[in-house]
Amino acid sequence: MPYDHRKTAPRTLALALALTGCCAALAGCGASQASEASPTAGKGGTQTPPPAVTATPDASSSAPADGQPSRTPPPASSTPQGSRSLAGRTVVVDPGHNPGNFRHSREINAKVDIGTGRKECDTTGTSTNGTATKAAYTEAAFTLDVSHRLRDLLTARGAKVVFTHDADRPWGPCIDERAEIGNEAAADAVVSVHADGSAVGNRGFHVILPARVSSGAADTAPIVGPSRELGENIADRFARATGTAPANYLGSGTGLDVRKDLGGLNLSTVPKVFVECGNMRDPKDAELLTSAAWRQKAAQGIADGIATYLNG
Ligand code: ZN
Repeated sequence: MPYDHRKTAPRTLALALALTGCCAALAGCGASQASEASPTAGKGGTQTPPPAVTATPDASSSAPADGQPSRTPPPASSTPQGSRSLAGRTVVVDPGHNPGNFRHSREINAKVDIGTGRKECDTTGTSTNGTATKAAYTEAAFTLDVSHRLRDLLTARGAKVVFTHDADRPWGPCIDERAEIGNEAAADAVVSVHADGSAVGNRGFHVILPARVSSGAADTAPIVGPSRELGENIADRFARATGTAPANYLGSGTGLDVRKDLGGLNLSTVPKVFVECGNMRDPKDAELLTSAAWRQKAAQGIADGIATYLNG
């Protein structure tokens, strides 16, 4: 992965949370990579903090938990391709990490087979830096919130939506199980929702596509092409819906990255991508990520990208 989050040492207490990493830093998400990427990291030492902080979503978002009825998708008319039904289609939504992972270090640090090697079951994810007036907002809370909004938008268009988890289990699932859920559902598309934990100044979103790998249970040859198509559509629609630019720290401005170290992608037999909605460690990106209104736009962009991919 282009960016080794772990090099971004935390500078404050809040930052310490970061270690637990975001996507990038921790394994579940794009995050998992870091740990996957570096064997040394695997030890699990990084995934620590429990924290009180994380439990509290920030003010703007916390409110109506995730539901936020008022933000539910307007009907089809709001989007060009909205008129095209997704009836008969199955979309698996994978909210990165799990709010309970902080309390289950042993379980999430256990290694699982991802075909190309072994990697931590899952990671805690990153978080925004808390401030005097705003509590830290965890990536695990963020991914669930965006996933709920995404589910509302997709079901409104007629799609069947399956979640890999809904904080209805104490931790996980492990990255291999997350992939298996998409496979079992014979999903037409799978999107794993994340936010990155990179250095200040690194801004913007990116979509992670599976690299071509063939080893053990991993064989992405059949999904590399369709996953790229899915990812390109999501990147395009995400930019339009949110008005934010592609990441300025990887992908050369395309908003696309390709990785071979993510178990969730390596083990998938159906088209799948990860969406890193922004960098939680950058104050400006954090302003967006902690805004419920912006998260609705993010979900809209992802839903539009999926719809465009599925319906053309
Ligand atoms: Zn993540």
